[in-house]
Amino acid sequence: TALAVVLGLGVAGCGQDSGGSQERDPDEEGGTIGIAMPTRSSERWIADGENMVRLFEDAGYDTDLQYGENQIENQISQVENMIAQGVDLLVIAAIDGSSLGNVLQQAADAGIPVVSYDRLLLDSEHVDCYATFDNEQVGRLQGQYIVDALGLTESGNETFTIELFGGSPDDNNTRYFYDGAMSVLSPFIESGQLTIRSGQSDLNEITTQGWSGAEAQERMDDLLTADYRTQRLDAVLSPYDGISLGVLAAVKSVGYGTPEQPFPIVTGQDAEVASVQSIIAGEQTQTVYKDTRELAQQAVAMSDALLSGQECEANDTESYDNGVKTVPAYLLEPVSIDADNYQIMIEEGYYSEEDLD
Ligand code: BGC
Repeated sequence: TALAVVLGLGVAGCGQDSGGSQERDPDEEGGTIGIAMPTRSSERWIADGENMVRLFEDAGYDTDLQYGENQIENQISQVENMIAQGVDLLVIAAIDGSSLGNVLQQAADAGIPVVSYDRLLLDSEHVDCYATFDNEQVGRLQGQYIVDALGLTESGNETFTIELFGGSPDDNNTRYFYDGAMSVLSPFIESGQLTIRSGQSDLNEITTQGWSGAEAQERMDDLLTADYRTQRLDAVLSPYDGISLGVLAAVKSVGYGTPEQPFPIVTGQDAEVASVQSIIAGEQTQTVYKDTRELAQQAVAMSDALLSGQECEANDTESYDNGVKTVPAYLLEPVSIDADNYQIMIEEGYYSEEDLD
């Protein structure tokens, strides 16, 4: 429509001559926060976006929330548009942590601070702070859950089978989840108490592009056909609920989920509704609850600090090297959830009873 054309031209014009020249007064009420999230295909990011919009607006800011729908090119142009429109600060959960270098340079040239959200932005010095959960701890919780559920002990002599799934190779968190889980599982793999019949244990053999549940389901189908025709599969390390549900669909299709052939132990992450329901129904075994309200709150606090010329609060200034600098980080505590304690999330108001029906 004519209006869109007018608006479009306005935006383009603004983008051409805005670089660095726009005046920003952080002490003034508000300002606009550009929020770039990776995808709406997973509930958690919808919640992250909504929580941030609410909290930033409560704190007097305007927001521009965009989802890249797992397409790197989308996210790049969304952030470029935000910069062109003169946002005062960017909060970015990257699709691909190392794809935004040029855009971050543009942000720096325009004097726009950047908060890296949940996933670390890589290979750029223009990342001011990082709000996330303790990613390695997420992996440790998943690994430890498997160890405890199978009753593994150092001196035990029972043996079990396990298969490992990793996250998306372009997400910096993937390595932390894997390292955390393997720090717990490796001793039992080395002792022979856990056997990976596929032999696929290196991270590059087990990643799941785009955290795709469908891709995970296909890989699980293949592994079941190749290695578990005559042997039971006892446990699956899954780093994310969408992957867990894909794994469960695959094992169901070959007959798991009966009293004679119970489901393997399957971990997860994010406590998404479908997975919590699956846990209540006795299918998925575990997930990791990361209260996105807390993370959003942390991102708002960091943004507030940066916009008033202060440093942001960090509780970890060592772990998150992005290839160019160590980014000051605030790590929140993830919580392991199973059928015995999922009520915590209801008590904390994260979900209502009805949400989980
Ligand atoms: C997040 C996880 C999420 C995964 C898939 C990771 O970067 O930390 O919470 O499960 O992406 O969206």
